[in-house]
Amino acid sequence: MSRELTDCLIVGAGPVGLTLACQLKAFGSRVRIIDKLDGPALRTKAVAVWSRTAEIFEQMGLIDRFLNKGLKCYGTSFFANGKRAAHLSLDGIESRYNFALLVPQHETEAILRERLSELGVQVEYGKRLLSVNQSSDRVETLLESGESLESSWLVGCDGAHSGVRGALDLRFDGRKIESQWIVADCRIDGLPLDDEVLLFLHNEGPMGLFPLGGNVFRMVAETEPVMDSSNEGRAEFEACRLVKLRLHMESVQVQEAKNAGYFSIHERQVEEYKVGRVFLAGDSAHVHSPLGGQGMNTGIQEAHKLSWKLARVTQWLMRDSVLESYHQERHPVGEWLVQTTSHGTEMLTSRNPIIATFRTQAVRFLASLPPVKDKVRDTLGELEINYRDRGLSKEPGFIGQGWRFGQGVKAGERAPDGVVRSQGQETRLLQLLRGCRLHLLLFDGPAKPGRLQAMVERLNRSYSSVVNVIFVGLDAEAPDWLDALYLYDHNRELYKLYAANEQSAYLIRPDGYVLYRCQPIDEVEFFNWLDDCCTST
Ligand SMILES: Cc1cc2nc3c(=O)[nH]c(=O)nc-3n(C[C@H](O)[C@H](O)[C@H](O)COP(=O)(O)OP(=O)(O)OC[C@H]3O[C@@H](n4cnc5c(N)ncnc54)[C@H](O)[C@@H]3O)c2cc1C
Repeated sequence: MSRELTDCLIVGAGPVGLTLACQLKAFGSRVRIIDKLDGPALRTKAVAVWSRTAEIFEQMGLIDRFLNKGLKCYGTSFFANGKRAAHLSLDGIESRYNFALLVPQHETEAILRERLSELGVQVEYGKRLLSVNQSSDRVETLLESGESLESSWLVGCDGAHSGVRGALDLRFDGRKIESQWIVADCRIDGLPLDDEVLLFLHNEGPMGLFPLGGNVFRMVAETEPVMDSSNEGRAEFEACRLVKLRLHMESVQVQEAKNAGYFSIHERQVEEYKVGRVFLAGDSAHVHSPLGGQGMNTGIQEAHKLSWKLARVTQWLMRDSVLESYHQERHPVGEWLVQTTSHGTEMLTSRNPIIATFRTQAVRFLASLPPVKDKVRDTLGELEINYRDRGLSKEPGFIGQGWRFGQGVKAGERAPDGVVRSQGQETRLLQLLRGCRLHLLLFDGPAKPGRLQAMVERLNRSYSSVVNVIFVGLDAEAPDWLDALYLYDHNRELYKLYAANEQSAYLIRPDGYVLYRCQPIDEVEFFNWLDDCCTST
């Protein structure tokens, strides 16, 4: 019987739980992570790591490990009747990672587990959650073994059949799609492209092939309903048959299929992502079609967003109310994802003769329109997600004289990156935005000398545990009085991206989104707002 109080208990060691555990531990929280399995699973599931997730892995210091394991994919081709019907290039994605990185999910989990172990935390396998009881200051979790764990917070990252969700008695409304799907890793020789995602349109259902290197492709396809369980053993055979049929290419040889299995698609979302001291993240909160490869990516982003809020609240540096923003920010993203993937899947699988007749032409036409291409790229890369007018995001309460943001990035949007000089070295802004503190970019300008100095001194005196001040200027040398990191914006790149026309402040969250901005700086409003969500020291 273990009664030691942990800051956070994570249930489920899939990609979402592992990301959360790494982040919480790196941010100084006491964390435990349990899984009902006896050890790591070989999951033939996700394969695509998209741009925003790659940026997160960079922030976590893991991107090199992922780049070493994965295959960079710069485009998607659509085929019909053995011919390429349309092409979508991904390299216009506005990120350093302007590609899909194809890494099998079990490898992603292995990298995250390795990192977690370096941080001193091991996954506790063979521990199945049975029930949850919460009070005003803690959560008691009962395991199947009879063991009882106590934690200040609990996060259910335990997948589509979440026991945490069940224990909270939360509904998982939605529907099951009436179709059967198959997934397998197939060795295919002679394909014309081995560095793109290939999507085959077919009247009996679509098929996607995701290259894993060495002529091995993860195939995902709609198939005939499996009538009885004896057919399960034939999944490898069925995968090879479908690849040959839907490729429709004489010269291509399907050598073998491994790790094959059938699955069904559900479209569901839970109504609340937070109930008291318990949160849901990843597939426990939303499930949908794997079209577009978004499920794991979305879940990892949830873990990334929740981690800093939870760590700071646990350390009494931010107020409990900050945690309410998790649901406010992420529930609409999940809702949108379920709807979008549902429409896309409907379009690709529809047996409606009219849709089927025009499907290929429609894909060809849409893929030729630049605005559509940009939209699809940004959607896939998950870069267009923002929290404008939601959750913690805050714009100034007044539009005063001289307030001139113009085209600058808004509160709730992803903070743009730019090249600057710091201590004589050229570097990128985002590389400096690490750790669990909020980063305050203070742009220098001609107005009121002494004003910024007073602000920096107050922040250093009373908020240094929660706010990291970064001063941006156009002079090669930092001001004499400055006791903070100085960035020399030698190309005026940050001034342009942040539309800093005069002295202005941008507060950036640890997950890389703009939390608050003001121009000109209104210190009273700024410090009032800061006091609403943070505690001073
Ligand atoms: C064929 C296919 C292809 C896909 N491709 C992609 C893709 O390319 N990109 C993408 O982003 N997504 C993709 N997805 C979706 C992706 O696989 C899931 O979204 C992802 O696995 C969700 O991760 P998770 O950590 O939330 O849950 P899971 O991966 O399901 O992990 C949950 C963990 O919780 C444990 N658990 C469950 N119940 C309990 C309990 N009571 N007590 C303790 N432990 C428990 C389980 O053992 C498991 O280890 C694909 C899915 C499929 C089926």
